[in-house]
Amino acid sequence: MTSPTLVWFRDDLRIADNPALTAAAERGAPIVALFILDEESAGMRPLGAASRWWLHHSVESLRARLAERGVPLVLRRGAAGVVVRAIVRESGASAVFWNRRYASAERAIDSELKSGLRSDGLEVQSFAASLLFEPWTVQTGAGTHYSVFTPFWRACQALPAPRLPLPEPQLLHPGSAGVQRIVASDTLADWNLLPTAPDWAAGLRETWTPGEPAAHDRLREFVATDLPLYDQARDEPSAGATSLLSPRLRWGEISPFSAWHAATGAGGSARFLSELGWREFAWHTLFFFPNLATANLRAEFDNFPWPQPDAQALRAWREGNTGFGIVDAGMRELWHTGHMHNRVRMITASFLVKNLLIDWRIGEQWFWDTLVDADAASNPFNWQWVAGSGADAAPYFRIFNPELQAKKFDPHGLYVQQWAADASPLKIVDLGLTRKAALGAYDVVKRSG
Ligand code: FAD
Repeated sequence: MTSPTLVWFRDDLRIADNPALTAAAERGAPIVALFILDEESAGMRPLGAASRWWLHHSVESLRARLAERGVPLVLRRGAAGVVVRAIVRESGASAVFWNRRYASAERAIDSELKSGLRSDGLEVQSFAASLLFEPWTVQTGAGTHYSVFTPFWRACQALPAPRLPLPEPQLLHPGSAGVQRIVASDTLADWNLLPTAPDWAAGLRETWTPGEPAAHDRLREFVATDLPLYDQARDEPSAGATSLLSPRLRWGEISPFSAWHAATGAGGSARFLSELGWREFAWHTLFFFPNLATANLRAEFDNFPWPQPDAQALRAWREGNTGFGIVDAGMRELWHTGHMHNRVRMITASFLVKNLLIDWRIGEQWFWDTLVDADAASNPFNWQWVAGSGADAAPYFRIFNPELQAKKFDPHGLYVQQWAADASPLKIVDLGLTRKAALGAYDVVKRSG
């Protein structure tokens, strides 16, 4: 068999545990690897700036690693439906393989392509790679999806255990290089994914090494040193006890199967595994509620009387100038590193939504733009969780007090010291008054529910 197999990489920028790539290697024909920057297809959410930075480096790493193994990575920009067909024509591919995606615009593209290419006589195969439990496989007794985490996770655990990760496939095929000569690729730099004027990415460069090898290094290090402490220390932002795997999972540099088995093999932590479970639940929710980033999951929240957003307060929140140490530390950590500790994400999000009375969608968009792990499911899911409008959400009336949260989770002030030592202590709001206003606004929702 000589006509090539096209492997279309998307949110799976890895070689190990990549079922589509492994199946292509097993097919025995030359492989053409493809990555598409799709900013044109209907309904695709434009990537945030920090995501674009990560993507650039992760694609570069994948390209280099595939090249070492004799496989060219073709880069193209455009609507995926058009580009995949063009590459099939140009390369003479007779098979197209990919790992499945679960957001609605992406699913529409993929299913249209699958049926179109199949009716043109191509072999098309898709694989499960990014989730431990694909959304439709987890069902209630009544055959519906879940809207509460605990029974969802119990149901997942009653399913067959997640499969073992696949080893790196043997890729060297003498024909692959020849394909490279006939299929042209864009130059990554021409995609302008990196910020230039100004170049605000110094903090990101300092913090992260995108790419598959660094993801595996971090997983190994986490399991060896941090996992044993995870249950006690995961909520303390200064402890550095969490895995920092989120951007790596978001871009698929490492699979959840690898994370799952590394953790369980090391004696595990039910808590850590259940955090991976929250990621599954966020995707389960997005699959059945595609408008998660724009619409309240609980429709009664459509009646929430959001006032006109206070532009000055919003700016103070974004820049970490609210006068509340833990909020400011979190927002500055986010701006500098593209990441924020989970506890602090909850505190800063709650502050925006409940103390500044600013719509969760505005905060979600800021996180979307600034997080390196900005995830189409986890980000809106968690914002709605904090706002009270989401699946299995925190009750609206449980309003975090950022000062008490700081006392509890940063008792020695180490985190605030690290990120906001020079911030102003001038508070932009009164916690008691704003809490009262938030509960008053919520009464409208309650009355309408
Ligand atoms: P660990 O504690 O080591 O957890 C391991 C993995 O489990 C994470 O890498 C992540 O993939 C998953 N996970 C952990 N907590 C959650 C959670 N609450 N929801 C979904 N998955 C989880 N996570 C994202 O990956 N992308 C986002 O865009 C995102 N936005 C968020 C917005 C808000 C307002 C809040 C409160 C949380 C958000 N989270 C998001 C969830 C969580 O904060 C991050 O996954 C976590 O901080 C990542 O750090 P870690 O990898 O060290 O986590």
